[in-house]
Amino acid sequence: MVDVSSFDPIGDLLETIRSEFIGVDDGSPADYIPELSVADPNVFGLALAGVAGSVYVAGESADQFTIQSISKPFVYALALADVGPEGVLARVGVEPSGEAFNAISLEPGTGRPANPMVNAGAIVTSSLIRGNNPAERFERIREMLSRCAGRDLAVDEDVYRSEAGTGDRNRALAYLMRHAGSLTAPVEEVVDVYFRQCSIQVSAVDLAVMAATLANGGVNPRTGEAVIDPSIVEQVLTVMATCGMYDYSGEWLVRVGLPAKSGVAGGLIAVSPSQFGIGLFSPPLDARGNSVRAVAASRAISEQLSLHLMHQVRRTAPSFTRLPAPTAALDGHPNDRVAVLELQGYIEFPVAEQALLAVNLRATDAERPIGLVVDLNHVTRCNPLAATLLDDVIEQFGKWGVTVVTVDQRARHLLAAAAEFPTVDAALAHFDSP
Ligand code: GLU
Repeated sequence: MVDVSSFDPIGDLLETIRSEFIGVDDGSPADYIPELSVADPNVFGLALAGVAGSVYVAGESADQFTIQSISKPFVYALALADVGPEGVLARVGVEPSGEAFNAISLEPGTGRPANPMVNAGAIVTSSLIRGNNPAERFERIREMLSRCAGRDLAVDEDVYRSEAGTGDRNRALAYLMRHAGSLTAPVEEVVDVYFRQCSIQVSAVDLAVMAATLANGGVNPRTGEAVIDPSIVEQVLTVMATCGMYDYSGEWLVRVGLPAKSGVAGGLIAVSPSQFGIGLFSPPLDARGNSVRAVAASRAISEQLSLHLMHQVRRTAPSFTRLPAPTAALDGHPNDRVAVLELQGYIEFPVAEQALLAVNLRATDAERPIGLVVDLNHVTRCNPLAATLLDDVIEQFGKWGVTVVTVDQRARHLLAAAAEFPTVDAALAHFDSP
């Protein structure tokens, strides 16, 4: 059996991106919550969780930190489930505010906060969660976030105390909203739930799985549990896309083009719908409160994988039209088998990931074919990075003695690591010749 434990091209990709930005030393950790200012500025963890349930990591991806504002989209999802979209909309808007996360600005007349991603909106959102008392409401929030992460999440009591001890601006916001009528619950009770929700501890891996749950229509791809209704996921992702990055949201949408949410401890999630979620962590923040390295790395990942939501590609699924099935034994080579795999449409990350996962499965396959013919005739385009990952797969197959060749009438040489033939027959004949 061949050891494939070190075969991790997606992890390698994250590692490359990490090394590209680890040297960026702009920004500094948040200090308005005293406990956050002691964070190590050199830490940089990245994780990517695919909708097939695999997680890839680089750097300090297991380090724990507080979720802060990244809790907001998930609590928003819970409020939408608890009181329905209209009930929530009556109390919290869905308009980008263009203002700082802690801005003291409410809709004239109604006193409604602009959206659930700024503090005022998030405080109202927390107050809408069902429960007989604040402890019950918080427990429902903690459980919901835990189900999205696929593990039981706990509160960082030091950060909670630090935040509760210094959170007067949030209290002021809550009093204003109570005066305006947009907040009906007692201020101290509501902000306490909010401070606790912000102090829940996560790692970059947890964030990636939570983001992948959103990417996967509300089903946690690790546990298989349906946590959020798909229609709610759509609304949450929309609000993340327009309001998730504080007063950088517009530029973020132009440059990165993905629904995202950042938190002042240095965490960030970005969601590529139907593909994967990423979770990043690095404490130094820019002037708008977003992690400098996490923003730079997300931008690189989005560019390299062509993830921008407005990217003009015709997505044709499924990309596999025929799964590898060994052809009849070739004349004169009774033990030799050649499998044919036909791909179609736009080849992007999930196809490459499926191929990588299939490689891992095949590691124990004693009945492995000697050759694999990959028919690319019906492939319209191939994302360059997906091609690189597929080339890694082809090389890995080569190490096992499985030769991979491609077929492309148009001779586009989409996969550099394989010899290319104009027809499937010509490719099969290649294996037939001694
Ligand atoms: N708990 C923080 C606050 O309310 C969250 C802010 C954030 O992460 O943006 O100030």
